[in-house]
Amino acid sequence: RTVWPDKTVDSVCPYCGVGCQTKVSVKDNKIVQVDGREGPANENRLCVKGRFGFDYIRHPERLTTPLVRREDSPKRGDIQVDPRNPWEVFREATWEEALGRAAGGLRDIRDTHGGGALAGFGSAKGSNEEAYLFQKLVRQGFGTNNVDHCTRLCHASSVAALIEGIGSGGVTAPFTAVEDADCFIVIGARPEQNHPVAATYLKQAAKRGAKVIVIDPRGQELMRHASHPVRFKPGTDVALLNAMLHVIIEEKLYDEQYVQAHASGFEALKEKVAEFSPEAMAPVCGVEADYIREIARTYANAERAIIFWGMGISQHVHGTDNSRCLIALALTTGHVGRPGTGLHPLRGQNNVQGASDAGLIPMVFPDYQSVEDPDVRRRYEDAWGQPLDPNRGLTVVEIMDAIHEGEIRGMYILGENPAMSDPDQTHARAALAKLDHLVVQDIFLTETAWHADVVLPASAHAEKLGTYTNTNRQVQLGRPAVSPPGEARQDWELICEIARRIGLDWRYSGVPEVYEEMRALMPSLANIPWSRIEREGSVTYPADDEDEPGREILFGEGFPTKDGRGRIVPADLLPPDELPDADYPMVLTTGRLLEHWHTGAMTRRAGTLNDLEPEPVACMHPRDIERLGATAGESIRVETRRGAIDLTLRADRDVSAGMVFIPFCYGEAPANVLTNPQLDPFGKIPEFKFCAARVSRV
Ligand code: SF4
Repeated sequence: RTVWPDKTVDSVCPYCGVGCQTKVSVKDNKIVQVDGREGPANENRLCVKGRFGFDYIRHPERLTTPLVRREDSPKRGDIQVDPRNPWEVFREATWEEALGRAAGGLRDIRDTHGGGALAGFGSAKGSNEEAYLFQKLVRQGFGTNNVDHCTRLCHASSVAALIEGIGSGGVTAPFTAVEDADCFIVIGARPEQNHPVAATYLKQAAKRGAKVIVIDPRGQELMRHASHPVRFKPGTDVALLNAMLHVIIEEKLYDEQYVQAHASGFEALKEKVAEFSPEAMAPVCGVEADYIREIARTYANAERAIIFWGMGISQHVHGTDNSRCLIALALTTGHVGRPGTGLHPLRGQNNVQGASDAGLIPMVFPDYQSVEDPDVRRRYEDAWGQPLDPNRGLTVVEIMDAIHEGEIRGMYILGENPAMSDPDQTHARAALAKLDHLVVQDIFLTETAWHADVVLPASAHAEKLGTYTNTNRQVQLGRPAVSPPGEARQDWELICEIARRIGLDWRYSGVPEVYEEMRALMPSLANIPWSRIEREGSVTYPADDEDEPGREILFGEGFPTKDGRGRIVPADLLPPDELPDADYPMVLTTGRLLEHWHTGAMTRRAGTLNDLEPEPVACMHPRDIERLGATAGESIRVETRRGAIDLTLRADRDVSAGMVFIPFCYGEAPANVLTNPQLDPFGKIPEFKFCAARVSRV
C-alpha cells in the first residue's frame, strides 16, 4: 500500500563516513522511507543501511524518560547484572532530579579530587556542534583534557602519521578523485561492506580501466575488479610496503623532482628500506617477490594514483608505522596534490572526521591545535575566559586503565558504547563498574548505560539539527525530520544543562550559534558560515573565500608543516603483540558487516537489517572447519587469553586458513571479550586486527 508522506526532509545518512545525502519521508511523525539525494558523495545512491536502517528510531526500547540508579539496585560492581530487566536497576526520574544528580556527582569529584579525576567520551555519531560543546565542557568545566571518542579505536594511528607526515589529519583528496586516477590502492579496507557507496566509485574506475591494487589478508568483493589482488599474511603490512618502497628506490621509480621540492627524510628511507628487498620480505608477508615488484612498479609508474586505507592498516600496534609507509609511497612518487592522486583513510563513522576536527581528542583543541602549545592555549583561554589544563589528556583505553588505578573516578559518556567497543571487554566493563559516578547520555539502554548512575534520554540523528563532516571533508547539514519520543531531549541542550549545573555560564540560543563559535576558533571553517551550509547543504573545507567552492585536492604547493615539506618517516618491522602459539594457534581478527553498524545499538534494532544478519557468527575457511571436525551452522567457542564466546560457525573462503573473523556488533557474543588491548605507541589504538585464539566445538 502506498503511503503518502506528510513531508520530506533533506538530511544525511547517520551511518558511515561516506556521508550520503538523504531525503527522509515522514508520515505522522514517523519515518516511512529514505531515498538518496544528489549529494557530492553519493549522487542519489544509498546502501542497504542508509535505505533501510531507520526504524530503530521508533523501537520500543528507545529511552523516553530520564533514569537514575535505584537505591536498592544490584551493586554497580556486579557486572553480571541481567540486562533484560532494567527496573531492577533503574527508576524513572524527573529531568530536574536526573540532571541534578548527573551534574552534582561530576562537580563533587572535580571539587574534591581535581579535574584529572574526570573524563568524557563524546561521539562520532553526534554533530560537529555537539562534539565542540562536549570537548569544551570537559576542558572548561571539568578542567581536564581527558576527552576522547571512537576515533581512538579506528583511525587514531592514521591521523598521528598524517599529522606527523603532511601536517594535516584529513584526507588529501575525496574518494571521488578516483575518477581521475589511472591506478589506486585499497589496503586494509573493505569498502563494499563498510563504505558501500564509495565502493561504487572505485568499481566504476576499475571498469574504465584504472589499475586496481587491492591488498588484504582476507579476500573481498573488490578483488574481483582488481588488476592486482594481493592476499598477504595478517600483521605483515610494513614488510610488504617497505618491500614496495625498496623496489621504487632500487629501480629509481621515484619522482626525484618532487622529492627534492616537497619531501624530507628520503635518504633515511633509502637506508632503511635497503634491507627490505622483495626476496627477503616474500616469506615474511607471503607475497611472491616478483609480484611485489610488479605492484610497486604499477603504483609508481602510474600518472595519477591514490591510496585508500581502512582499519586493517590502523588497528595494529604498528598502525602508525603502516600509515607512515603509505605516506612514504605517496611522497616518493609524488602521488599527492594533483587530481587523481592522494592519501585517503576511509573514515568510519558519519562524523568521525568532524568530531576529531572539533576537538574530541585529548591532545588537541579544535583543528588539531596542540593543548601543550602556550600560544594556542592562550587563544582558547581568552575565548573561554579561564585557565585551561596545559597537559594532554588520556586516551580511551588509557582512561579505562586509569579508572582501575583509582585516578579517574567519574565519567560523562555521550553516545559511545565502550562496554562493547573497547578491547578486552571484561576489563573495560569492570572499569565502568568501578567508577564512583557515571553519566550516560544515549538513545538506548546500551551495555555501557547499564553501568550508569544517571541515564539521560537523548535524540537520534533524524531528530536533530547539526552539521556532519564526511570522509571527503564535506561539511553537510543534517535536518530534523521527526521529534524525539517522550521526554527525550536534544543532546546539545543536555550538554549545556550539565555545563550550567557545574558552574559554567553557558547561554546558546541554538545550534547555529554553537557552530559560529566553533568556526571562530577553527581556521578550517573560516569561510564556511552557517548560512552557507544552510544554503548549499554541503561545503568542502578549507574554502579560500565565502564565494569559492572548498578545495577538494590539497597540498599541490606543499604541506602545512613547519618547513612546508612532507616528512617521510621510515618504519621498522614490529610483530603483532600476540603471536599464535601451541595453546592459541589461530589469528583472530574483528570488524564489521555490511548490514550492521559498530556495536549494533542502532542496526540490531532496525528490522530489515537485523533480519538479514540476526545472529553472531564466526567465519572460518572451509579447510579449517573440516580440520576442526565441525560443520558450518553449528555452535563453536572462540577463546583468547582474555575470555571466550560462543557463536555460530560460518564457512567463508575469503578468510585465510588459520584465521577466524568475528564481527563486533553482537551483544550476546561480544567479540571484544577476546581482543587484545595492547596499544600502538603513537596513535594509542588497540590491536583489534590481530590476536592469538583457539576454536573448539561446543
Ligand atoms: Fe549511509 Fe554509508 Fe551507506 Fe551511504 S554508504 S548510505 S553514508 S552507510
